[in-house]
Amino acid sequence: MSKAVIDTSKCVGHGQCAMMAPDVFDLDAGGYAQTIAPELTGDQRRDAETAAMACPEQAIRVED
Ligand code: SF4
Repeated sequence: MSKAVIDTSKCVGHGQCAMMAPDVFDLDAGGYAQTIAPELTGDQRRDAETAAMACPEQAIRVED
């Protein structure tokens, strides 16, 4: 099963991930990314990979 992982030491809160993959990422009260999907469906995995490529801080990775 795939999952999205955020390196919180790199995330600076741009929010692109939450816009590109709203079923996978959300922003917490401080404006930093958090995952909201513990296991990714096929569509969510595709969206998470797109978000990972778009993250300016390279803070997202998708694991199997
Ligand atoms: S796009 Fe990257 S830096 Fe921006 S909120 Fe998402 S994980 Fe954090």
